Amino acid sequence: MTRQVLTILGSTGSIGVSTLDVVSRHPDKFEIFALAGHRQVGRLAEQCIQFAPKFAVVADAGCAAELAGRLQNANCRTEVLYGAQALIDVASAAEVDGVMCAIVGAAGLPSAMAAAQNGKTIYLANKETLVVSGALFMETAAANGATVLPVDSEHNAVFQVLPRDYAGNLDAHGIQSIILTASGGPFLNTDLAAFDSITPAQAVKHPNWSMGQKISVDSASMMNKGLELIEAHWLFNCPPEKLEVVIHPQSVVHSMVRYLDGSVLSQMGNPDMRTPIAYCLGLPERIASGVGALDFGKLSALTFQTPDFKRFPCLQLAYEAMRSGGSAPCVLNAANEIAVAAFLNGQIKFTDIAKVVAYCLEQDFADGSGSIESLLAQDAETRTRAQAFAARLSQG
Ligand code: NDP
Ligand code: MG
Repeated sequence: MTRQVLTILGSTGSIGVSTLDVVSRHPDKFEIFALAGHRQVGRLAEQCIQFAPKFAVVADAGCAAELAGRLQNANCRTEVLYGAQALIDVASAAEVDGVMCAIVGAAGLPSAMAAAQNGKTIYLANKETLVVSGALFMETAAANGATVLPVDSEHNAVFQVLPRDYAGNLDAHGIQSIILTASGGPFLNTDLAAFDSITPAQAVKHPNWSMGQKISVDSASMMNKGLELIEAHWLFNCPPEKLEVVIHPQSVVHSMVRYLDGSVLSQMGNPDMRTPIAYCLGLPERIASGVGALDFGKLSALTFQTPDFKRFPCLQLAYEAMRSGGSAPCVLNAANEIAVAAFLNGQIKFTDIAKVVAYCLEQDFADGSGSIESLLAQDAETRTRAQAFAARLSQG
């Protein structure tokens, strides 16, 4: 394996920290060109001191000044940049081989697109990129020789058990369906009558995975699985009717592929994102990730059940948006980002998240899926609508 030069976008987040943990185990294999955080300047400073990247990117001039001061005190020569254009620049730089896209939300789209336009190897954690602009992103990657590798654990599992020469044609390989597993989150067995009083602290407490706040709330509402259906649709060129979701509370089977001879192939492991990250970074080799061996003696049972749309209306909304196509997934995503933020800051109830998303999907919107500019305009318009509706809900 030749030494890879990496940019890590979202290095201060949950995926970013796990990525750097894997990278630190293989100093002979990886070199860091740029690290990008947003507002966690202290953590980014520590990362710069440890990994000595050429560039570090933060949100704005204030964060940049603070970071530059900290780095100077530590004699660290990393150059500090800030703003959205700097994210695009460090994702496109000629020196860079691979880009870990681990910014949260649609904010990660322009830099991921820049990596695609510049033919990079893209380690894609930011599922919102595929939800908002799946067709455009995959076309751009293909047209520019970029490779898209799925970091999301379910998609990584599917990727691992698809035939090696799979090129986006299910029928050619005798594949009947792709089955995404879902933990069901913390409210799988909660009394439905108690859903209105779910607090942010309860919602971010995932039973199996330790993740950022936004994706934790998405897991609790199962919007995360909805976003992942759309992600799988684009990554594997899989029609909606060949995508299944199954609830598997132990999060040991990370997803499966069903073949027409009756075989179902799965990938298993402890729930730790360093496994899919190491799989992607190491390809075509397997490299150590730091994840402990799966202990079958300690697994009491692996159970499976079908999801209940009454309990998880967000999953149903995502299925519908996927089937509608066009800008519907972009609207779904923007409305959800606003609703989750409004829930986390105490403005609306957990059950209002689905209401905000449904409301935005019911409004008239043009098909803006043809260009990144029109998708971003659609995203912005939906955010305004969602914010206004959330404000109405909060006033009762
Ligand atoms: P976190 O919230 O932990 O981290 C988000 C990262 O993005 C941080 O580095 C943050 O910077 C940065 N960031 C936030 N807003 C912006 C912005 N506007 N511009 C630039 N950077 C920004 O999220 P996760 O690591 O959990 O998730 C990242 C992505 O990976 C998401 O799309 C998620 O769906 C996906 N994913 C995550 C999994 C997980 O296990 N965590 C599993 C599968 C997918 P700072 O903190 O410095 O402000
Ligand atoms: Mg996932």
